[in-house]
Amino acid sequence: MSVPMLDLKAQHQTIRDAVYARLDSVVERQQFIMGPEVGELECAMAGLCQTPFAIGCASGTDALLLPLRALDLVPGDEVITTAFTFFATAGAIHNAGGTPVFVDIDPATFNIDPAAIAAAITPRTRAIVLVHLYGQMAEIERILAIAEAHGLPVIEDAAQAVGARRKIEGRWRMAGELGWVGTFSFFPSKNLGGWGDGGMMVCRDEALAGRLARLRLHGGARQYHHDEVGYNSRLDAIQAAVLLAKMPHLLEWSAARRGRAERYDRLLAEIPGVVTPFIDPANEPIFHQYTIRVPERDRLREHLTSKGISSMVYYPVPLHLQPCFAHLTVQEGALPATEAAMTEVISLPIYPELTDAQQDEVVDAIREFIR
Ligand SMILES: *Cc1c(COP(=O)(O)O)cnc(C)c1O
Repeated sequence: MSVPMLDLKAQHQTIRDAVYARLDSVVERQQFIMGPEVGELECAMAGLCQTPFAIGCASGTDALLLPLRALDLVPGDEVITTAFTFFATAGAIHNAGGTPVFVDIDPATFNIDPAAIAAAITPRTRAIVLVHLYGQMAEIERILAIAEAHGLPVIEDAAQAVGARRKIEGRWRMAGELGWVGTFSFFPSKNLGGWGDGGMMVCRDEALAGRLARLRLHGGARQYHHDEVGYNSRLDAIQAAVLLAKMPHLLEWSAARRGRAERYDRLLAEIPGVVTPFIDPANEPIFHQYTIRVPERDRLREHLTSKGISSMVYYPVPLHLQPCFAHLTVQEGALPATEAAMTEVISLPIYPELTDAQQDEVVDAIREFIR
């Protein structure tokens, strides 16, 4: 039996009638650009995130780029972020005209370390981009306190954390809710994935929401009138239709992923040398990834592959060591927790439809390798 990282075909079987019904109405209406599905999905995402505004856009990358563009960065402006994330987080900072300043992670959660952010603030710092990695929220309340003391906006890259939440002062707060802007990706492999690219920005400020909505439409709220130079970064009506059919299942899918994660925790606890994910007690994660630490990670990965079991390394090269950022001259060794994680992490198959038998196979293969 082979075990994939994710089984979108199995997911599709459970929702196909609902998706095709939604798609059929788009096709019959023939309004593919900014059709009513886009506004409907924006309302649904605003509801999920407990924010008054949500603005669809073309990808999770653009969801980062547009608010960074709204900061009107000038050369030399610094944006603090993590090096242990998907490339887009820092690529968007660069493309918006900023200089990414990479700081280290908390080795327990893999999320950006608030103390490291505080230590990296300079007179040129213009913003902070945190990432809720693997579906677990970063310590946003600590980061917001640091940011507020310096008057800095915080962008939450919640591409991996749609529907994740964190209890702060007795209240559940959603990923994306508390930052200046929260950003999401609907890349097919994300927990809420479309049939292609798509993204969403959420925020609480009406003027900002208007600016983001203009930036995605060539910088003009009215057609053929341009207040500034923006982008063609719309969310397709077809993608919104697929996502609307999936959205009612998101909570049950997240709960199923948590159930799979608990079962991995239990089974892997008996295997020496395997470090299972640490979940901050304030968090309710969505397990976009189930990521363990092991010595001899690469050899374990080869062993799993030989058994037909998929696994992934997120991320094998941290962003401060990427050739494209060599000009930032961050030396190897500068971010020890990030660099240690880079050599030890491996993400195992996790998705709602994963069966006990498949999971047992993954665990048995790991046990066999460790022995
Ligand atoms: C997927 C992802 C993105 C980019 O999203 P796209 O929709 O692929 O552009 C950005 N940040 C993180 C952390 C991601 O995982």
